[in-house]
Amino acid sequence: MPDTNGCPGSARSIAYAEQGDSKQDTADQLRLLIESVTDHAILTLDVSGHVASWNPGAERIKGYRADEILGQHFSRFYPPEAVAANKPQRGLDVAMREGRFEEDGWRVRKDGSHFWANVVITALFDETGQLRGFGKVTRDFTARYQAQERREMERLREALRIRDDFLSVASHELRTPLTPLQLKLTAIRRAVDNAPNGTLSSERVGRDLDVAVRQVRKLVELVDDLLDVSRISVGQMQLERTPADLAPLLREVIARYLPQATQVGSNVTLEAATSVRGEWDARRMEQVMTNLLSNALKYGAGKPIHVSLRAEDGMALLTVRDQGIGIATEALPHIFDRFMRAVSGRNYGGLGLGLYITHQVVTAHGGDIRVDSAPGQGSTFSVRLPLAPA
Ligand code: ADP
Repeated sequence: MPDTNGCPGSARSIAYAEQGDSKQDTADQLRLLIESVTDHAILTLDVSGHVASWNPGAERIKGYRADEILGQHFSRFYPPEAVAANKPQRGLDVAMREGRFEEDGWRVRKDGSHFWANVVITALFDETGQLRGFGKVTRDFTARYQAQERREMERLREALRIRDDFLSVASHELRTPLTPLQLKLTAIRRAVDNAPNGTLSSERVGRDLDVAVRQVRKLVELVDDLLDVSRISVGQMQLERTPADLAPLLREVIARYLPQATQVGSNVTLEAATSVRGEWDARRMEQVMTNLLSNALKYGAGKPIHVSLRAEDGMALLTVRDQGIGIATEALPHIFDRFMRAVSGRNYGGLGLGLYITHQVVTAHGGDIRVDSAPGQGSTFSVRLPLAPA
């Protein structure tokens, strides 16, 4: 038997086995199949959309008995607003034009209740290409739709929880530098008020000012991270690539952190090529180095830190290795997520944004970042960056 009638978009004809009365047998089997299907509504419509056949699945899903619905227009399965928008006819038009129409949408049962349906309408053409009607298969996907809605609700609830947690962490983090800042400014005010003209100790005021300046710097860093995150989320983190050398930049960043390293008792060693040149946004790359090094000092305080930088196969390779607390295995896959913190806020301050921003900067440069870590075994962060944009 030929398997197509040659009409574009038409239904293909059924291939029958070639023995004996098999054509009639197969037609009977098909009828029995359709009659025994109860989880799909399978029906046919005449060319104008009136119901021409109805199976038990259709009765189960839509609630009408065959004698109630045969000859009725199929638009009664649609909610009134869909009928007003001429949706039923448009479905038939598409099926006629393209052979098939499929959509997911709300439909109405006999008792007026709604269900979420997956509907496929197929145009039925005869051998001469004449439209003879439509086949329609409807499945009740309400449970699937509800499960999806539940998942969506849970996702939203989780997003709200993360936002609330973040707000409380952020306000705490922003509040922390304000206390010493306020204290030092008050101390300076008092010193100025109490010192008779010309007797103000510049050394004493200088010390207080150093503390105040440090706290302001911390606040600026926190606010900058927050601004970066909002830029990233609206797709506005733009790179300003210029020819740059990562090696001197890295030496500069390490030198800046030496006083803090000494303070926490960590020895920082550097193994770096004299120069690693490429095209990068130098300010952003400095941010990457700063984030990784400050984390190593925070989570690996008192233990040695090793930093390396070299170029290999057109890539710059930067690693920062510490021997600190390490990262729990279950936290590793999420460590570059926004607001991710794998430590208790009571022991370590932070917004959980540094690694997220670092990851975004590295990937915006066409590179990647990975971490090898185990609890108590320290962490190694490895960044790979193409020397030139692709
Ligand atoms: P923050 O340090 O502000 O919490 P980050 O985004 O820099 O945020 O880091 C996210 C989390 O990753 C941290 O809360 C910490 O749990 C973990 N982490 C980052 N760097 C290290 C490291 N070197 N050693 C152990 N844990 C780390």
